[in-house]
Amino acid sequence: MPRIAVVGAGIIGASIAVQLIGDGHEVVVYEREPEGRPASAGNASLVALPEIAPLASPGVLKAVPGWLLDPLGPLTIRWPDLPALTPWLLALLASATPSHGAKVRAALAGLMRTALEDHFRLGRIDGLDGHLRQTGYLSVHDSEASIAAALHDAELAKQALAFPYERLSAEAARKLVPQLEGRFAGAVHQPVYWTASNPLTILRHHQSFIRERARLAPAEIIHVGPAGDRISVLHVSGEVEFFDQVVIAAGVWSRDIVRRTGLKLLLETERGYNTTFTDLGWNIAMPVGFADHGFIASPLVDGLRVGGAVELARPTTPANYDRAKAMRAKMRRYVPSLPEGGNQWMGRRPSTPDSLPVISRHPADQRVLFAFGHGHLGLTLSAVTARLIAELVAGGSPDVAAFDIRRFQ
Ligand SMILES: Cc1cc2nc3c(=O)[nH]c(=O)nc-3n(C[C@H](O)[C@H](O)[C@H](O)COP(=O)(O)OP(=O)(O)OC[C@H]3O[C@@H](n4cnc5c(N)ncnc54)[C@H](O)[C@@H]3O)c2cc1C
Repeated sequence: MPRIAVVGAGIIGASIAVQLIGDGHEVVVYEREPEGRPASAGNASLVALPEIAPLASPGVLKAVPGWLLDPLGPLTIRWPDLPALTPWLLALLASATPSHGAKVRAALAGLMRTALEDHFRLGRIDGLDGHLRQTGYLSVHDSEASIAAALHDAELAKQALAFPYERLSAEAARKLVPQLEGRFAGAVHQPVYWTASNPLTILRHHQSFIRERARLAPAEIIHVGPAGDRISVLHVSGEVEFFDQVVIAAGVWSRDIVRRTGLKLLLETERGYNTTFTDLGWNIAMPVGFADHGFIASPLVDGLRVGGAVELARPTTPANYDRAKAMRAKMRRYVPSLPEGGNQWMGRRPSTPDSLPVISRHPADQRVLFAFGHGHLGLTLSAVTARLIAELVAGGSPDVAAFDIRRFQ
């Protein structure tokens, strides 16, 4: 039986491990913080099937200078980190072309086509059921221009995936989410969004299955490389273990391991902040995006989560929880009944500058595989990524050309 190591037990690594266990492999998962709360534990819980737009487009770039003026706005840069972020930012700017946008939409649509069914299939392996419900999604907008931009994206998603959408007046939007008592210009409703019960519960379920059926080792891995007919995995403690194949799925921290294998990679963190209220006594019927402010309110099974936005910073830069507070204050303009309080959190989206994840073999050694860089879509794309990686492990040839790491070389 092939022996496979997975480095990282966030939602990507844990999903891959569940899939590989289901396929009958002997699996060891290395996680340096088994009780940690990475991006996979605290995200907005959306299975965002229509979200195929690239991060950067000519329209988005026009809005960036305005956003950057507000340090608590939808996009900020921690300026002392700018030198470290510059190569990634330059690549992001270079990717903001219509032709790259079309390529991103086509590639992400390819993943979205099976993403939902892959979640159900993965759940059948480890007994996860009832964790996803079709809620739809409402984006609310402050201006006609903002509505037009959202309708444009929704139309492109419809053309690619046949997902419907409708423009709603503020009054019609309030019928769906009565808590939206404040003023806004209008809304766009997309029914084909699903919401997960709670990302932490799902992550812990997968991790428990791994503990039961395989090994979840609390260890930090610093190097992987060929060792004769095996692949060696070096722990920070100096211990070495050997495998037939190794999958690197360690979120943004994958980049250190990847670079030590001799490859180039642009991967940085788009950090997001949120606040979770578990004692409100009310919840909203569907996730609501505050499009002009870059954050979302999501109804979890056990509370309301408010947050998102993007802070570009090195992974180790201290958190600025004023950003979570600012989003609570902004939400009160639309939902005056939202109180202060709740639990604040910060997570690191592992993002490539070209808006596409890396789902790939190592070009020089097919036994080393990569799965990271899912940015805003890691929960959505976790199960489809797990299936594709399992197909690569089994020697298959799934169509992952758009996600190949060779694009960075
Ligand atoms: C505010 C916010 C909202 C979001 N909302 C959504 C959403 O609604 N829908 C959606 O699809 N996505 C969403 N995302 C994105 C999603 O959360 C991420 O894309 C996803 O969690 C990334 O998963 P990952 O497993 O690649 O990385 P991570 O969650 O970062 O996990 C990586 C794991 O690897 C471990 N690790 C790192 N280095 C090592 C090492 N050397 N050895 C061993 N272990 C190691 C880490 O400890 C960590 O547990 C959101 C993100 C944020 C921040």
